[in-house]
Amino acid sequence: MALRRPVPPGQCRQCWTHAYDPDIHRRLRPGQDCQPCLDHMGGNHGSQIVPKKASSWW
Ligand SMILES: [Zn+2]
Ligand SMILES: [Zn+2]
Repeated sequence: MALRRPVPPGQCRQCWTHAYDPDIHRRLRPGQDCQPCLDHMGGNHGSQIVPKKASSWW
């Protein structure tokens, strides 16, 4: 069973999901690159970054 973790604030949804869910890359053909991962490799995460919540409960 894959352990799916919720994406923590400040992390990129795409990168986090692909890093922790190997099934996503297992669906690719051998030698096929994962286009979302390629797009994000240059640090270009765009709107995929999870916004940080206000930590008012501290
Ligand atoms: Zn990313
Ligand atoms: Zn990927």
